[in-house]
Amino acid sequence: MDTTSEQDAAANRYQAVVAEIEKASQKIGSEPPRLLAVSKTKSATAIRALAELGQYEFGENYLQEAILKQQQLQQDYPNYNIVWHFIGHVQSNKTQIIAEHFDWVQTVDRVKIARRLHEQRPVELEPINICIQINISGEASKSGISAVDLWPLVEEIQAFEKVKLRGLMAIPAPDNSVDKQQLKADFAEMASLYKALQQKVTGIDTLSIGMSSDLALAVEYGSTMVRVGTALFGAREYKAKESG
Ligand SMILES: *Cc1c(COP(=O)(O)O)cnc(C)c1O
Repeated sequence: MDTTSEQDAAANRYQAVVAEIEKASQKIGSEPPRLLAVSKTKSATAIRALAELGQYEFGENYLQEAILKQQQLQQDYPNYNIVWHFIGHVQSNKTQIIAEHFDWVQTVDRVKIARRLHEQRPVELEPINICIQINISGEASKSGISAVDLWPLVEEIQAFEKVKLRGLMAIPAPDNSVDKQQLKADFAEMASLYKALQQKVTGIDTLSIGMSSDLALAVEYGSTMVRVGTALFGAREYKAKESG
């Protein structure tokens, strides 16, 4: 593989995404959201290409794959100081590995998961940052809690001092991304829940909405973190199955 042209391609994609984020932010006169590079199915080399450009937050969905890449990068490039976000579905028997290897978990959707992360977070590490995942499109099959169940969960999480609640995240149903009106309604609901959460709890600074195909719209609705995979790394070559 021609590594120079690979690096050039990565730089071009990165600059295009950053420019799109900046343009959308300028349109509404807001701070640009943080960019989370979603590197699932992509190699440590591909992560390195972005890290060289100054990107430092990466999101992963599959644990085995993520930890392998973390180890490779830690060994070869210990000075990158990557901030790792877990954005896959959390199985309760995997919380220990997550508590030990990630800085953030964006997909907390039940008290059991938050409690286990709190109990299993190594003492020498800072509290783990979490977002509560809202099942915004109301699909039974998807992860995330419904909006009505949010407040009791927020209440319970307050007791866990090794867990730091930072905000909310959502993945709209794929169909909703086709229907712009529905997507706007989803983002508007997230924005209003986020505002309410900020009023109830201190230190809330993260509304994680927006992916490759809808990031500009998410910015209009107040996203503070967009999670971008395809637009940064190119299309994923396989659809990895849900696994540990
Ligand atoms: C894969 C994934 C993304 C990135 O999606 P793209 O459409 O490739 O940008 C964002 N968020 C989550 C939770 C994901 O699983």
